[in-house]
Amino acid sequence: MKLDKPGQAALLKLGEIDLALAKLKAELLRQIDSKELADLQEQLTLSAGELLAARTEAENLSLTVRRSEEDIRLVDERLARDTERLNTTSSPKDAQAIEREIESLKKRMSDLEDIELGLLAELEASEKVLAQATSKKESINTSLVKLQDEIQAKVDELKSQGRKLTADKAVVVEKVSQEVLSQYEKLATRQIAVGTVDDRGCTACRMNLTVGALDNIKSLPEDELAICPECQAFIVR
Ligand SMILES: [Zn+2]
Repeated sequence: MKLDKPGQAALLKLGEIDLALAKLKAELLRQIDSKELADLQEQLTLSAGELLAARTEAENLSLTVRRSEEDIRLVDERLARDTERLNTTSSPKDAQAIEREIESLKKRMSDLEDIELGLLAELEASEKVLAQATSKKESINTSLVKLQDEIQAKVDELKSQGRKLTADKAVVVEKVSQEVLSQYEKLATRQIAVGTVDDRGCTACRMNLTVGALDNIKSLPEDELAICPECQAFIVR
């Protein structure tokens, strides 16, 4: 196929641009399909579950502590009332009964205070777990947002490079004849469609060319495109 020298240079450039566009597309997919991002999203979901469980546990314990405090308050009130009654009663029989009740209330109070202490220790431990779960989730979330921002910045950069390459491509395509272009596009769907000879090898397929093939390529007129005998790619000299 015939193609003038500027056209051949444009064809070579077109090959480079298409290669760069393919690399860009692969990199874009790699960025979007980030394993690190998926891992962080999974960690965040797990951590949100842990946080919810820790919060429920702490809230339940807090409620139990309030109930226990209310029990203590009621026993305390009754003790105060009984002490008052003991001080004012004139009946020794009543006084005896009240004293027995006070004894029993004091025992109840002591038991309740023991329970309360145990509950407070549990609540403290559970609040520690809650604080840890909260800060763990925050930290994962911070990493996730940071990574998402980084990915977005890379994606934006790649898209901008892609727009520039596409614009460059439109310029070089203008310099290549329709005939060569359609053959190039046919080839480009399955392989590198244009190369040069470098150290006796075709840069499109990386195969070494025979001396005869190299002579054939050299002997072609300047405006005739060479074809690699190994991969059929256009060879620009
Ligand atoms: Zn080749």
